[in-house]
Parts: sequence; C-alpha cells; structure tokens
Amino acid sequence: MGEFDLIDRFFKRPTRRNALGIGDDCALLSPAVGMQLAVSSDMLVEGRHFLPTIDPFRLGHKALAVNLSDLAACGAKPLAFTLALALPRAEEAWLEPFSRGLLALADAHDCELVGGDTTRGPLTICITVFGEVPQGQALLRSGARAGDDLYVSGTLGQARLALEVFRGTLSLPAEVFEAARVRMEQPTPRVALGMALRGIATSAIDISDGLLGDLGHILCLSSAGALIDTESAASLLSADTLDADRRLEYVLAGGDDYELAFTAPAAKREAVMSAAANSGTAVRRVGQIEAAHGIRLVDGTGRAIERRYASFDHFASP
Ligand code: ADP
Ligand code: MG
Repeated sequence: MGEFDLIDRFFKRPTRRNALGIGDDCALLSPAVGMQLAVSSDMLVEGRHFLPTIDPFRLGHKALAVNLSDLAACGAKPLAFTLALALPRAEEAWLEPFSRGLLALADAHDCELVGGDTTRGPLTICITVFGEVPQGQALLRSGARAGDDLYVSGTLGQARLALEVFRGTLSLPAEVFEAARVRMEQPTPRVALGMALRGIATSAIDISDGLLGDLGHILCLSSAGALIDTESAASLLSADTLDADRRLEYVLAGGDDYELAFTAPAAKREAVMSAAANSGTAVRRVGQIEAAHGIRLVDGTGRAIERRYASFDHFASP
C-alpha cells in the first residue's frame, strides 16, 4: 500500500464543512462571522505519551481527544483537524482500527479531518484542531480573581492509577484496573462543559500534567494563588485499595487526566451547576482563588498540609 492509497483508504472521506477536502495543497475553511478561530496542536510519541501495547483504536481516540480537550479548555466548538502521521510501516491491521477510533470521536464532535501529512518514521501522531468561539468569549488562563471558586470536572488520578499498574508498583482488582485503563487510553474531552461555561467561568485549563501543575499556569497568568481542600480533591478518585497519601498524590499530580480545572465567582455557583448538568459532566468545587501567591493545601478541618508534589515536565532533569 502506497502513501496515497493509505490516505484514500483510511483518512479521506466526503467533505462536509470545509470548502475543499483532503487532496489539494490546503484545506479551505470558512469561519463564521463574529467567531474567532481557536487553534491547538498536540503531539503523541510512542514510548513517551503511550505504551506500544495500546490498542490502535484507543490510540486513535486518544490522539484526537487530547486535542479536543484544549478546545474544551477554551470553550471552543470543534470544527476541523489535520493529522500528521509518522509510521514505521503501512499496516492495514493497525491503520484500520486507528482510523476507526480517530474518526468515531471526530464524528461524535462533528469535527472534520481536512488534511495532514504522512511519512515513514517512528510512530508519532501530531494533530492540529480548529474550533470556533464567539469573539471575546474564549475561556482564558488569565481571568481568575481572588475569591473565585475553583472547580474540577469528572475524576482525577485514574490514568496514573493505570500507569502505576503497568509500571508494576501497584496491583488492582481486574475491573478497577480496566476502568482506570480506559480513562488513560480513551480520555473524554469535556467539550460540552467548556462551551457551557462561556460567560460563567473566569478562567479554565485542561489538566494534562496534574492538577497542581496546570492550576499553577492559571495562577501565574492570573497573578493569584489558591487554596485546595484536599478532602474534596481526594474524593475525585474513588479507590478503596489505595492508601490516603497515594490517592492524594495521584489526584493532585497524576497527569493524563484531560479534565477541566476552572474558576468562577462564588455568585455563579448555580450557573456552574446548571452548566455541569446541561453538559452531563460532574463538577466538584475543590478550593478557592486567593490573592496571596502559591498553592496552599489544607485538610478537611482547614489545617495546612506540608507536602510537595512534582508536576510532569518533559525536559525536567531526573
Ligand atoms: P503535500 O505534498 O502538499 O505535503 P501530500 O502529498 O503530503 O501533500 O498530501 C496529499 C493530500 O493528502 C493533502 O491534501 C494532505 O492534506 C492530505 N493528507 C496527507 N496525509 C494525511 C493524513 N494522515 N490524514 C489526512 N489527510 C492527509
Ligand atoms: Mg505532505
């Protein structure tokens, strides 16, 4: 199978939204009047972002999911994406399930594959997504204000739980592991929640490197600090088989969660809960933004917890 057969067979479909489909030098998109284009890229490298054992269907899902998660964090509606793919060999047994997983999630979000690039090389998947958001309404990292509530969607720490089982530092009952593994390999981008939070949230970010690290980006750009109630936070991971310290570590610094962390004024609590209900996404209040910089961890009684957690950094020295 040659390069162009491969593209035709697995990635080319009738064009829908874009004016020009796969096959020309550029895809042409027509953004709607009054909308801003939201653009983001994420790259997945074998051995670094996923294990060679991952099912290709799930990998196709994940490659797009991590990109849609960035659109979600901006409150943008997905429109289209491009796929740059480096493959060691053109194997139908891999390409077929990979493209099925990818395009199933694309269809679920009405997000059209409009182009890309294909080359031989170590397995690497780079997707660029395009979304739209009404002018001036994108959720930014810079809008958190002292007094705002801090929220997290869904669950945290499950991907880390599965990773530790793969690493052999943890053993779990089969069904607990399977559930955690699905969260690691097929994360759910919180697109509907992000869109529902337009005009309500003051800031948002998607959690890819751990809550503390990613919240740190909001705090840095918002010039603020935060308090986290570790008891509320810990309840984001229900794991009877974990000791309290590990559970908190995975929640606060697990990574690969693709949930949203966001802030909203206390006066908007009802609006936040409606946005959560309307988007079918669980949301939990886990703390508050403060004027004093830094992140303060407290237990259920408000007592300070002194512990440091490292967030993920590809270029950090070991
Ligand atoms: P170019 O020579 O301009 O790099 P290519 O020959 O690489 O273009 O690609 C031919 C067409 O196929 C282009 O429209 C490109 O966007 C599309 N394409 C290439 N690889 C992929 C892919 N993995 N998924 C979707 N479209 C692709
Ligand atoms: Mg090319």
